[in-house]
Amino acid sequence: MLLAGLTLGAAAQLKYNKYHAPIKVEKKWRKYNPGEVIFRDKSPESEGSKIYHAIIPDPTPYIQENALRVLQTLYWSPKDKNIPRLGRIFYTIEEYDGVSEKYGHGDHVGIRYSTKWIEHSFAGQDTMRLDYETRGVLYHELTHAYQLEPKNCGSYGDGGEYWCFIEGMADAVRVACGCFEQNFQSQDRPRADTWRKGYRVAGYFLYWLQLNKDKDFLRKFNRSAAELETWSWDAAMKHVLGDKPENGVEALWKEYRASIGE
Ligand SMILES: [Zn+2]
Repeated sequence: MLLAGLTLGAAAQLKYNKYHAPIKVEKKWRKYNPGEVIFRDKSPESEGSKIYHAIIPDPTPYIQENALRVLQTLYWSPKDKNIPRLGRIFYTIEEYDGVSEKYGHGDHVGIRYSTKWIEHSFAGQDTMRLDYETRGVLYHELTHAYQLEPKNCGSYGDGGEYWCFIEGMADAVRVACGCFEQNFQSQDRPRADTWRKGYRVAGYFLYWLQLNKDKDFLRKFNRSAAELETWSWDAAMKHVLGDKPENGVEALWKEYRASIGE
């Protein structure tokens, strides 16, 4: 509809705009029920709440549709027995200092999103930027709801390999779904000397492995959490890519950095 009114030049520009339209939901996922979404607005008087509702008039289908994008990035098929079945997802917008977080576990999961962060992301009144940011944050938090949890490799609170898997995968899914720039030279990718920093540092590394080593890498890496009795980054890489020295995590990290010119 919008495109009809644009000149060819403007349409080409729009195509390369990083605030692009969301990726397609694959046909096989369209009828999948990702869980009932219970939306709550705890700060309706805030500016961020007004902005949110203006841009996302109907939050429930918006959240459910983005959940399908996360699911198709983590799993091959709705029939996969490993997919955690969520009964309800409580989604709350609320005024607090922070961005967003997932809480709860099992089939009782909640996500909070800060109205202050909405206000911050809407500086410049750029509707597409706010949608891009809101969806990106949602991809990250929904990954936490649907990802598998690796076994016998510490706990979230120790900031070690388990934590790094959880947060690295969440940002890898966000990159793969296009809500961080898919360009390794972009400012979205933080520079770091070890994958152990988690989040985007590990996320871009995992995304590179998907582009360069195995097109199903993220799904296989996620599944390794269910398949390995004692999980580690090194064991999981070799499990997915083959048990050879060049598939050890440190060797791959080195190869990745060299390939992006670092
Ligand atoms: Zn997270």
